[in-house]
Amino acid sequence: MQQLDHQYINGRWIPSQGHRRLPVTNPYTEETIAHVTGGDPADVDAAVSAARSALPDWRALRGAERAVYLEGFADQLTQRRESLMRLSSTNNGKALAEAGVDLDDAIACYRYYAEQARTLDGRQGQGIEHDMTGIEARGYYDPVGVAGLITPWNFPLVTSAWKLAPALAAGCTVVFKPSEVIPLPEQQLADIAEAIDLPAGVLNLLHGDGEGIGAPLTAHPDIDKLSFTGSNRVGETVMRAASEGTRNVSLELGGKSPILVMDDVDPEQAADWVMAGIYFNMGQVCSATSRLIVHDAIADALYDALARRIDAIRLGDPLAEGTDMGPLTSARQRESVMQYLDIARQEGLTAVRDERHRKLPDHGYFVAPTLYRDVPTASRLWNEEIFGPVLCGHSIVSDDDAITLANTSDFGLAATVISGDNERAKRIGRQLQAGIIWFNGEQIIMPQASWGGVKRSGIGRELGPWGLQAFLEVKHLIGPE
Ligand code: NAD
Repeated sequence: MQQLDHQYINGRWIPSQGHRRLPVTNPYTEETIAHVTGGDPADVDAAVSAARSALPDWRALRGAERAVYLEGFADQLTQRRESLMRLSSTNNGKALAEAGVDLDDAIACYRYYAEQARTLDGRQGQGIEHDMTGIEARGYYDPVGVAGLITPWNFPLVTSAWKLAPALAAGCTVVFKPSEVIPLPEQQLADIAEAIDLPAGVLNLLHGDGEGIGAPLTAHPDIDKLSFTGSNRVGETVMRAASEGTRNVSLELGGKSPILVMDDVDPEQAADWVMAGIYFNMGQVCSATSRLIVHDAIADALYDALARRIDAIRLGDPLAEGTDMGPLTSARQRESVMQYLDIARQEGLTAVRDERHRKLPDHGYFVAPTLYRDVPTASRLWNEEIFGPVLCGHSIVSDDDAITLANTSDFGLAATVISGDNERAKRIGRQLQAGIIWFNGEQIIMPQASWGGVKRSGIGRELGPWGLQAFLEVKHLIGPE
């Protein structure tokens, strides 16, 4: 069995100073497939020191030179695509086809930031427009410094790409802590760094959990920038840690995103988009549209179309051809989702489909794809992020009601609007409080557009030029022409 007891520090794999060993599971077989170190603050010290030493040379490179390494990541991920898809499915439980979507997303991200790194060279020293005669003012962009990157388990290689690629493009050196739940695919990034001869210390990868690595990394005084994706509970501790020394922080946190289905749609088409918004990746998606806000006139037809589609979902081995949905990623996550199904019973919610409607495979952390209708807006299921295949519906009778209900949430990450009229969908979309709003389609993700949320969904934006800016400091030189 694989023992992930080494840390990638300063271009070498060295034994972790941590003595705790955490099991890594295959969520379909429920077997332990590896052990990973819990990590130790001494590992963090060594990694931060390596990143600090590597910073001067790395930031001194031109963006175009750093771009070559980013292309290297993209090329290596492309070459290893098939094996990484399998590794990701095996460790995370997602269906193989979905793992392929993840790989393509990550590859596109590294390529995009290679281009952004080149573009950065042209942006250095550009004059800004102003109305003072005889004065010049020029803008420059410097890397923030040493960045600590922490990611969750739901999208292996993707959430890490969204941080690593812009951080390296900007000229930051990094200490990256992947989730201890899915260390197998993420570990490959260090192998790729070796394969492309990334200078030692530019990327340091530390295995471990919150206690062994996460908390000491966020508290480390020599980290200039913290970029965190995960739960609100931990995100708030990261933000508190960043306040020590007034350090730069970006947070990508939870969501409870709405999908609005208006009365002028084809219910069959709308049902396809609703399904994709909630059951992809077993619902373990921060932007999952888990609140279905449906116009009363179409509600019965939509629920009927959804029920048929839910019954057609093939649950099973994520590696098997024909599987639509694998197990949840961990026993812990299944337990957490099952608690919400208990709450639904206690609250007397109306299930269109729940665990009674479906026989689950004999093993694996499966949860039946579940749909409740006419859910009261005071319900915990309506308000809290569940992070599983659980969809709650509520009917409305006007666009204004739909918008008000959509915006009545602590979160504001994403939203989808479905209407037979694109203009109506866009008009509604503009009034929603969220960072990403899709209309009349699935959740399209492209590296050029921003990602991130308002309200409790986080602070800052990833992807696009905004993702690069998160790892840059801007400064202006102003004086006589
Ligand atoms: P989590 O907060 O439990 O863990 C995230 C990471 O933080 C892991 O690497 C974990 O080891 C680490 N960590 C744990 N305790 C820590 C501490 N005290 N200090 C520093 N790091 C610590 O989240 P999770 O269960 O892995 O992921 C699910 C959550 O992530 C959901 O809330 C989901 O919405 C969110 N998420 C958000 C986005 C987004 O883009 N907004 C994307 C994916 C996931």
